[in-house]
Amino acid sequence: MKRMSIHKRISITKRGFSIIKQYCPGLAQGKAVYELINSIQPFISVWFTAQIINEISSLRRPKKLLIYILFVSLFNFVCAVLKSIINHVCNEKESQMWSWFGKIFSDKQISLDFVDLENAAIQHQRQEAEENLYMFGNGLAQLVWGVPTLVRASVNILASLVMTVSLFVSQSGNKVIDNPLWILIILVCIALGGLSNSKATIKENEVFMKWCQDTVWFNRAFMFFGRELYMSPEKAKDVRIYEQNAIAEKVLDKLIQHDSEKQTAIFKMSIYPAIAYIIIGLANAVCYLFIAAKALFGAFGVGSIVQYVTVLSRLGEGLQDLMYILSDNEVYCTHLQKLFEYLDIPNHMYLGSLTVEKRDDNEYYVEFKNVSFKYPNTETYVLKHVNLKFKVGETLAVVGMNGSGKTTFIKLMCRLYDPTEGEILLNGVNIQKYNYNEYMSIFSVVFQDFRLFSFSLGQNISTSAAYDYEKVRECLKKAGFDECLDSMANGLETFLYKDFDADGVEISGGEAQKLALARALYKDTPFIILDEPTAALDPLSEYTVYSKLNEIAGDKTAIYISHRLASCRFCEQIAVFHAGEIVQKGTHEELLADSKGKYYELWNAQAQYYK
Ligand code: ADP
Repeated sequence: MKRMSIHKRISITKRGFSIIKQYCPGLAQGKAVYELINSIQPFISVWFTAQIINEISSLRRPKKLLIYILFVSLFNFVCAVLKSIINHVCNEKESQMWSWFGKIFSDKQISLDFVDLENAAIQHQRQEAEENLYMFGNGLAQLVWGVPTLVRASVNILASLVMTVSLFVSQSGNKVIDNPLWILIILVCIALGGLSNSKATIKENEVFMKWCQDTVWFNRAFMFFGRELYMSPEKAKDVRIYEQNAIAEKVLDKLIQHDSEKQTAIFKMSIYPAIAYIIIGLANAVCYLFIAAKALFGAFGVGSIVQYVTVLSRLGEGLQDLMYILSDNEVYCTHLQKLFEYLDIPNHMYLGSLTVEKRDDNEYYVEFKNVSFKYPNTETYVLKHVNLKFKVGETLAVVGMNGSGKTTFIKLMCRLYDPTEGEILLNGVNIQKYNYNEYMSIFSVVFQDFRLFSFSLGQNISTSAAYDYEKVRECLKKAGFDECLDSMANGLETFLYKDFDADGVEISGGEAQKLALARALYKDTPFIILDEPTAALDPLSEYTVYSKLNEIAGDKTAIYISHRLASCRFCEQIAVFHAGEIVQKGTHEELLADSKGKYYELWNAQAQYYK
């Protein structure tokens, strides 16, 4: 495996910290301060303890002893209080950390070009980075957890070095013991301990990384078969009826086997830290012997033995921690890199800056000029040389058989995709030149596969937390939902679905369609587009909606997409789509008059069902 350069690791780590700062402000800093206090505290305590023991074993001055005891007690008390406060704040922040890390993905998804949401490669990339989040904290959690280790290591090394100077400077009178070569021997011993620990970590990581790569598929399978399949209420019916849990159990068996192989490998890997501990033990023994020998020959008092033993072992721990964090950093940088590759997916859609003119006369018109389109990564044109012009106030019906390109036509008009060839104009200007959000704000669309959300009814219709009660009621009435609303005890406060409220209501497909229609009406835009708006409605409701279409649309441009011609016959203009082309345009009467036309054929084919 190719190792990452130090330069790259530094830049990835820096970026990781800036993301943590953005999404979990204060968490890394809080952990750093906590650990700073936590690791300085023992050094101060051990220094005071050494002074107290030295005082007791030599001059025994009560006043001095009292001052030492008071200082050390006060210091420990202040540290304990500070640590407790910071710990509570950090724990609270850390408990929310995972949700905030999840938000990183939501923010990126919403900023992606719509076309990338359907790009399998990009969504695969997201999935990989997201799995990475839950399995390995995406590197971000490891960065957070690494902060205390880094602070502890730095404090341990610096403070230990300062506090061991006197160990080497003090003279015992014995030439062998006072030989400056001991400084080198002791430092080599401590460094050996640190190095062996680092080697063990690298070996552990190598095994771990190999399993990480092998586990990508298993992780995904586990997420799906161990969780998603059972958690989602939408899947529950089919899981039960088709006993999908049997398949899931089989996959889970494999996962368990895979996991036990992994455990065996991890168990074998524990040989490396064991060897490291032996080396560290031996290095410590040499240090202990040196300190004991120096004290024996009278270089310092008994109290200082406690100080030097503690401080040297802290120096060893500091070096081990530092080595550990450096090798661990290499592992989480690879996880972070995966996350950043996803976050760095660029936006390709051209975003103009023109404002959409707010016209008092509502004189907007949209024109498709020789528009052809194929979906990204596909070869076939699903729209071919579409030419169509319509203005606000008109009702346009887009009819045609399934798969003839009607919905795609709408998606292009709303700029979810850009045409492969040709252009779409709003008041004579290519729609790409308009500010994207402003352009979107002139459309209300009820897509065939619309979604309502687990909020209150009022919030669903207004799509905001605060809303105009009367306007919501009016829109629900126009959409034919008024009777249903009257039967709801909590009225507009009634929650849809049970995610956030045990009393939330489950609604039928037809009721949902009425709500989606009301939502589109509430947005009150110059264009209202309804894609198969009555597909889920019963015949009576369908009749009601269609007979009120003109009233519903008011002075807006209403575009209806339907494969049911009877529903669209009252529209001022009807465009007949067939295999991606507009094959006919006109009013119902004009189109029906052409007995060789597609409209005539479709009308007669459907008419027999209405007779
Ligand atoms: P209609 O609304 O008339 O039923 P659509 O516009 O939904 O037709 O689909 C037209 C064609 O485009 C169909 O052949 C469909 O399979 C294809 N299509 C629709 N959406 C996508 C997509 N996201 N990616 C690739 N092909 C698609």
